[in-house]
Amino acid sequence: NLISYSSEINNDNKKSFIDSIDTFIFDCDGVLWIADTIVPGAIETLNYLRHTLGKKILFVTNNSTKTRQQFQDKIKSFGIECFIDEVYGSSYGAAIYLNQINFPKDSKKVFIIGEYGLEKELNDQNFKTIKEINKLKDGLDSVQNTVIDKDIGAVIVGMDTQLTFQKATYAHMCIKEIEGCLFIATNPDSSYPVKDGKTLPGAGSIVSMIQTSTQVKPITIGKPETLLLDVILKKDNLDPKRTLFVGDRLDTDIAFAFNGGIKSLLVLTGISQLSEINNIDSKINPNFYTNTIADLLPSNN
Ligand code: PLP
Ligand code: CA
Repeated sequence: NLISYSSEINNDNKKSFIDSIDTFIFDCDGVLWIADTIVPGAIETLNYLRHTLGKKILFVTNNSTKTRQQFQDKIKSFGIECFIDEVYGSSYGAAIYLNQINFPKDSKKVFIIGEYGLEKELNDQNFKTIKEINKLKDGLDSVQNTVIDKDIGAVIVGMDTQLTFQKATYAHMCIKEIEGCLFIATNPDSSYPVKDGKTLPGAGSIVSMIQTSTQVKPITIGKPETLLLDVILKKDNLDPKRTLFVGDRLDTDIAFAFNGGIKSLLVLTGISQLSEINNIDSKINPNFYTNTIADLLPSNN
């Protein structure tokens, strides 16, 4: 039958499990850290895998607010070794996508609902972006007079703590009024964790607003779509059967691994709970699960 059951990592199967993997790809928030607090044992685990065992290490995050450089700085700030070409974020992915489709960077611009990370990754690849728009007076009379730049060829929506109704209107009008204008979402996360166990609305909730108003389904860049995984597997010529994705969220991380044809490990330090593994829908059934990435360290007994 098609259902794949999840196995718990324990002292009996741990060694053969780790031996079966050459490349460990880590989700960041919920796996390595929670908001700004490192997961206990994360540093030791990554050192062990990279240096003691010689495994290849990569990082993939759906967070669109930072550049690769900023993620590298954040990872290193915890004392975890990290090289910039090991890091893949959804904003970097958006720039890769525009290059893949030969987006006409000389004649068309990109309107972004997003933060510095998205703007910077696009500008670094020579895409022209519009992020700020002239503020109109509050009220519908004013906002309906929004004038869009007809040279916009794509709207990219990510996390934006400066979201306004006016920006949403601008994005809506581009998608509805400019022929061929693309609608791209950096990532679908409905919410994301911050400190004290709280959550905030995620990029997915902003994307939903524009999707609802335009009735256009976006092209999604981040997990669970496989753009970044396809790029990674191809660039380093990795064997999918010996590649593992470690994540904390079934609907993004585990589905990402499944969609891209690699193995998955769910850790329980982040969003998804063990009780959510249902052994019904293979797409969101991890191959393996364990409490925390620190469980990959050799046990003392
Ligand atoms: N989006 C934003 C804005 C975030 O801050 C986070 C986590 O902090 C995420 C998405 C999810 O990131 P990850 O894919 O690393 O879990
Ligand atoms: Ca995560």
